[in-house]
Amino acid sequence: MRALVLSDIHGNLEALTAVLDAADQWDALWNLGDMVGYGASPNEVLEVVRPLATLTVRGNHDRVCSGLTSTRNFNPTARAAAKWTMEALSAENLEWLRTLPQGPLEPEQNSADEVRVTLAHGSPLNEDRYIQNMRDAWAPLQQMTTAITFVGHTHIQGGFAQKDHDWQEVRPRYASRQGCVSWTLAIAPGMRYLINPGAVGQPRDFDWRAAFAIYDSTAHEVVFHRVPYDVAAAQERVLKAGLPERLAARLREGR
Ligand code: ZN
Repeated sequence: MRALVLSDIHGNLEALTAVLDAADQWDALWNLGDMVGYGASPNEVLEVVRPLATLTVRGNHDRVCSGLTSTRNFNPTARAAAKWTMEALSAENLEWLRTLPQGPLEPEQNSADEVRVTLAHGSPLNEDRYIQNMRDAWAPLQQMTTAITFVGHTHIQGGFAQKDHDWQEVRPRYASRQGCVSWTLAIAPGMRYLINPGAVGQPRDFDWRAAFAIYDSTAHEVVFHRVPYDVAAAQERVLKAGLPERLAARLREGR
């Protein structure tokens, strides 16, 4: 079974299109949330991703942009984008976002020899919490009972792994800063993982290319990918929509 794992699309249709073109042969699409907010194509993104997603966990931006909670904890840029998004979203898409389940979710196993997996947006212990370092990863790695927990939220591709006293940071090492690249992580028996596929629509690890991962439950591996996309077109849409200029600039900077 091959699962395409996506997170943090953030209304970036150009990035999502490039990812779907690059991702070959998957059986399930696991969507870790934050499909909207920041980017200028929230409805277009939802129209593409809704019918494709096998499982979707809501993100904090999905929650705020659909009016379930206030923008109080957002910085001024995120708040302006959330307000714009809420007004731009169709009634149907707003309603769909409101009904999304809060993580963590556990996809059904396809066979008994598959390891168990959990999906969450932020930390599996708190959807708003960021897992940025080993200290943040400690409690979830101790408490999760599944071998792999896929998370998003930080917009940083990679993750953390632990087995007994062995703690490791997972960081894809790419051969090139250009073009399509991939990096394979072999899932070791008995190891516990927190894996972030990276952000499709607004990477923050200083690599502007759209990020995603493919999990292969038979090959016991996670393949991280980066793909270039039409960033100029995405930026133009952000500016045309009257969204904060910073949201266009950061796409090229990857931060
Ligand atoms: Zn996000």
